[in-house]
Amino acid sequence: MSSKTYDTIIIGAGWSGSVAAKQLTEKGHSVLIIEARDRIGGRARTYVDGNDKIDLGCSWIHGYNEGNPARNIAKELGVNAHLPKPFEGIIYGPNGPLSSEQAASLRSSLSSAQEAFKLPHPSPPSSASLASALFGESSPLFKSSSTSSSDPSTTDTTSTSPANPSEATSNSKAGYDKTLAEGLARTLEIPLGLRLEKASLKWAGWESTTCFAGSDAAPEGGYQELVKKLIESSKAEIKLSQKVIEIKQLENENVIKIKTNQEEFKAKTIISTIPLGVLKNLSKDFFKPNLSNKLIEIINQTNVGILEKLLLKYEKAWWPNSSFIGSYTFLPINSNTILTENSNLEEIFNGSTLVTSNLNCPSLPNSSPILLTYLSETPAKLLLNFSKEKVIKAFHKFLIKRFNLSNSNEIEISEPINGELTNWLKDEFSFGATTTPSIISENDERSPMDFKELSKPIWKGKLGFAGEHTEMEHRGSVAGAVISGFREAERVDRLLNLIKG
Ligand SMILES: Cc1cc2nc3c(=O)[nH]c(=O)nc-3n(C[C@H](O)[C@H](O)[C@H](O)COP(=O)(O)OP(=O)(O)OC[C@H]3O[C@@H](n4cnc5c(N)ncnc54)[C@H](O)[C@@H]3O)c2cc1C
Repeated sequence: MSSKTYDTIIIGAGWSGSVAAKQLTEKGHSVLIIEARDRIGGRARTYVDGNDKIDLGCSWIHGYNEGNPARNIAKELGVNAHLPKPFEGIIYGPNGPLSSEQAASLRSSLSSAQEAFKLPHPSPPSSASLASALFGESSPLFKSSSTSSSDPSTTDTTSTSPANPSEATSNSKAGYDKTLAEGLARTLEIPLGLRLEKASLKWAGWESTTCFAGSDAAPEGGYQELVKKLIESSKAEIKLSQKVIEIKQLENENVIKIKTNQEEFKAKTIISTIPLGVLKNLSKDFFKPNLSNKLIEIINQTNVGILEKLLLKYEKAWWPNSSFIGSYTFLPINSNTILTENSNLEEIFNGSTLVTSNLNCPSLPNSSPILLTYLSETPAKLLLNFSKEKVIKAFHKFLIKRFNLSNSNEIEISEPINGELTNWLKDEFSFGATTTPSIISENDERSPMDFKELSKPIWKGKLGFAGEHTEMEHRGSVAGAVISGFREAERVDRLLNLIKG
């Protein structure tokens, strides 16, 4: 065991751990960060290929002009962030692209429905799901609507992708179709990270008045580099590729011992940023003494969402309108298909709602012939049963079919030259994308208070918790991770000053 006793050991070199490390070292405390991966960033991970730097985890600074603290961090570190130029998005129905009137009508109805079911009052039963309201007989989703705003509570990857599909709106109900409306509503499952059937109606939009939303910007060079710069600007020591396997409080010595797969370390205080998905899978005696039964129940019952990204890179853009359409939303071809573990790749793509960002469109600097597709819970879970190579090949074929180019001799369609399919779900250091809004529960057990509970320090304040899952009003986001890092650093600083006298 190293003979040094650190003031603080931080577990995890993602956003929350990096912010806490920077703050504590600036206050003069000695800090060691222990990270299980061989890289910094956690769920900030950037695909780098030549000049292309595409974020496969977090990509947007949500609420860039609305106070997201990540903006200032980027600025202090000299990293530019770019607000995307708005570009139009196209919705593809089973028979091809929808007319702009039809698309606008569908989007408008979805916005109205989202607005109608945000913060519902009187409070519906906690077992009611967002799906039950959205797809109910009297839902505004199926009626003429004039609302045009999109719900900030669901603002994430899709609504901030280069072409924000919510931009074009009108009251026209031309060609209105219930199945298409349901298909479009499934795009909400991307930022939510879960199926609408699981999302609690009672808590729908609960964070919408506090979370950062409105304008979104992408940090130049990608999010991973930004976190790396942040850590490098701190005076913390860092150990990579060391997985913490035990945290033990030594009563008599007033220190906490941390065991990794390689070494042992001691500290006066600990900040764990271990993600919720990982906490769910830790061995029973990871914490010594054990966590309380109440905390264990909350860890087990709160939900970690599923969101994956599928990237296809080409030599040259071959898809329609590649230089001025920001995104393509593919509604299911056959919405009656029930997808199961036995579904093949074609059935999975045909039966899902998929949103594909066209990075060839000059919405952000450095456009490139890349299509980046967001996969929500159902397709993501099923696609991860196949190899990356097979998924890329099948999706390329699917795109040719949906763009109706199967029999085209006029357009030269190249094969993808590179590709990526994330697997945050099975990644042993995340086990999922991020926490989701509260899920339905039979007897009101689940609520946003769960995330507050996950933030409470234990062992007389010496073991604290940070990470997106510990911020009730900002969970699931970079902002949540950053705010939690500031919160814990401030608390631990006060405690260390008392301990040090
Ligand atoms: C696909 C995707 C898209 C997203 N898009 C956005 C977006 O556009 N905007 C946004 O604001 N947010 C987005 N998010 C969410 C955002 O990425 C996270 O909220 C944020 O990165 C979480 O930071 P964190 O510090 O809480 O956790 P992490 O970044 O996960 O850091 C925790 C660290 O702990 C390490 N660790 C785990 N177990 C151990 C162990 N036993 N020992 C040592 N180390 C361990 C992990 O390796 C990890 O590095 C997205 C997430 C995903 C997955």
